[in-house]
Amino acid sequence: MSAANELACLGGGQLGRMLALAGAEMGVRVRVFDEDGGACAGQVAELTVGKFGDERAVREFVRGAGCATFEFENVASGAARAAGEEGRLAPSARALEIAQDRAEEKKFFNGLGIGTAGWACAGSEEELRGALETVGLPAIVKTRRMGYDGKGQMVVRTVEEGARAWKELGPSSAKHGGLIVEEMVGFAREVSVIAARGWDGEVRVWPLTENVHGGGILRASAALTHVGEEEWWEARGIAEKALKELGYVGVLAIEMFEVMRGEEAHLLVNEMACRVHNSGHWTIEGAETSQFENHVRACMGWPLGSTGGVGASVMVNLIGEVLEGERLRAVMRVEGAHVHLYGKAGRAGRKVGHVTVRRGNFEEAKAGAMEVGRAVGAAEWVERLRG
Ligand code: AMP
Repeated sequence: MSAANELACLGGGQLGRMLALAGAEMGVRVRVFDEDGGACAGQVAELTVGKFGDERAVREFVRGAGCATFEFENVASGAARAAGEEGRLAPSARALEIAQDRAEEKKFFNGLGIGTAGWACAGSEEELRGALETVGLPAIVKTRRMGYDGKGQMVVRTVEEGARAWKELGPSSAKHGGLIVEEMVGFAREVSVIAARGWDGEVRVWPLTENVHGGGILRASAALTHVGEEEWWEARGIAEKALKELGYVGVLAIEMFEVMRGEEAHLLVNEMACRVHNSGHWTIEGAETSQFENHVRACMGWPLGSTGGVGASVMVNLIGEVLEGERLRAVMRVEGAHVHLYGKAGRAGRKVGHVTVRRGNFEEAKAGAMEVGRAVGAAEWVERLRG
């Protein structure tokens, strides 16, 4: 079947699910493709089951749709290129390929004059020793490709730990392009900028987001709708440069470290995600237009909606255990709380939902999010948000 108002999305997780819900409101039918027949977007959208590496299946899936996109970053680049040959693909396979390799990503940002942590690549144990010397200790050793949510990385504080990092990560990294060693950044906090660009080059940038990670997984975010003018302009500049250079279409998320030089805050890029992003979930209730709506609009070639903040929002991720019964009721009773459950089964470390508390100002939103945090065992993360 062929339809201009169809969006074919590679990946059928919660991001695909929220894209499908946003699309439905605008009359766009989002179809999803996943390797897992139980993928949660399949509860709200038509799901095609196939392998991401199967170019023929991917071609067949995207054929006839008004546009193809992805919500899963480890789509094989051959499959993404195949999708791009069948019709419109947003963002491009090139953007995806850069984001899939931490070294290419850093080269890309550094090439635009944008700062990152110091880094060096290592393809052997000897190169790893050399890279640790160049970058200095402590450092973080990561696989260049296929790492997410803190997986495939180790903090190295001593030469002995470097040898251990090679044993743990080296062999399996060989088929993924080797390792990258990064300087350990002493950041004041972590922030991200979410931006969207249309086919006609229109750019919209949401207010900066403050993020708290635990065990490499995003735990809580706050929309910085109220502060940090100068920093926001710096983040906006970074996003605009990257979007333009890539000829990007759709939503892009850039995760950054805020570092202090004297009194002044500066931003170093950690990584980008060529898709809607967990740190932008607050935009569903906390912005004029959500990241999901603007991604669909961008893909379909429509004008983008305003990204201005509405009130103040704090988001808490629900990880591991599905919220139900009395705890669900307790969270729903929190004033201004919006509960999102993804229809996934609980499993340790798995994102199964999120709650956004939107109120009049940051202090009130944080207080509400603390109530949520206490009910779901996430108060320690919410507590760290500074706003
Ligand atoms: P990543 O997989 O690169 O997003 O890393 C997950 C988390 O680990 C980040 O959000 C940071 O909290 C921490 N982290 C990663 N790289 C560095 C670095 N170079 N310096 C300090 N902390 C880091």
